[in-house]
Amino acid sequence: MGVKVGFIGLGAIGRPIAVHVARAFDTMVWNRTIEKARAFAQAEGASVAANPTELVEWADVVITCLPTSADVREVVESAGGAWRKGQLLVDSTSGDPAASRAVAAWLAGSGAGFVDAPVSGGTSGAEAGTLTVMLGGEEQWVAQAEKIVKPYAGKVVHVGPVGTGHAVKAFNNSLLGINIQAAGECLAALVKLGVPATKALEVINASSGRSNVTENLIPERVVSRAWLRTFRLALLDKDIGIALKVLKDTGVPSDAIGMTKRVFGEGRKALGEEADHVELIKQIEQAAGVEIR
Ligand code: NDP
Repeated sequence: MGVKVGFIGLGAIGRPIAVHVARAFDTMVWNRTIEKARAFAQAEGASVAANPTELVEWADVVITCLPTSADVREVVESAGGAWRKGQLLVDSTSGDPAASRAVAAWLAGSGAGFVDAPVSGGTSGAEAGTLTVMLGGEEQWVAQAEKIVKPYAGKVVHVGPVGTGHAVKAFNNSLLGINIQAAGECLAALVKLGVPATKALEVINASSGRSNVTENLIPERVVSRAWLRTFRLALLDKDIGIALKVLKDTGVPSDAIGMTKRVFGEGRKALGEEADHVELIKQIEQAAGVEIR
């Protein structure tokens, strides 16, 4: 018998990850809106749990992909006594390091293990099965987690103890946020000076200021005016908030990331919970009175 994997959270990135998991392992899914789990099971050949307890009772390994660590904690604790010795929780949520250490300690009470395993690469990387996965945990559990994440990973790196995968992810996303904000401001000014955005990007993307934001996100979403929705701005705001907390906890200056947190917090309030992260640039365009094209 192969490993039985339970998957919780079929959202924008959870669903395409779960597709790879269901192709590689005997899989059971649970989603808060249960219709999504039923549709997934029918399309991908998995079974559906009525609740998290049923899923935890059945699975050898559980993968969670939820918005926040608070959601993970709620779901994990709701399965209460179903957790047992030797079981492993692989948390692919972009979570909070301190909260993850608490969940790991809670699971250890039942002899179950915890590895934080957030992902980078977006929904397109999830669909392609080429995500970068950063693992935080003890060696014995990480060795097991590596086999579970392999079907959807292009790169897997064990970065340190429990919580450090989440810390790396939060800082990666802070750099993403800073790049969105800075590139939006630079391009808005250049367009106002009469430089078409495509020309400015042609130069920047052959020069030292380039980033994933200038190479991919702005051409595909802003210049095209497509404004795709794949990763909620609210989730990026959450990630930058986690990074800011880690900076404070470790006694490191937080000027750049603190400023970006403020701007994304304001963007979240203005644009709402469903806006995409790149839509922050709409705010910059509005303030500047220009469209980046
Ligand atoms: P979504 O908002 O699209 O989906 C969230 C999922 O979690 C849904 O299945 C939702 O269920 C479920 N959920 C939300 N709250 C609860 C709760 N309290 N209890 C149980 N289930 C709950 O998020 P994403 O899939 O985009 O993101 C998931 C995680 O992955 C986040 O931490 C995010 O930061 C991270 N991430 C996302 C990326 C992306 O490109 N989207 C890229 C990299 C990381 P329901 O269907 O009922 O709403």
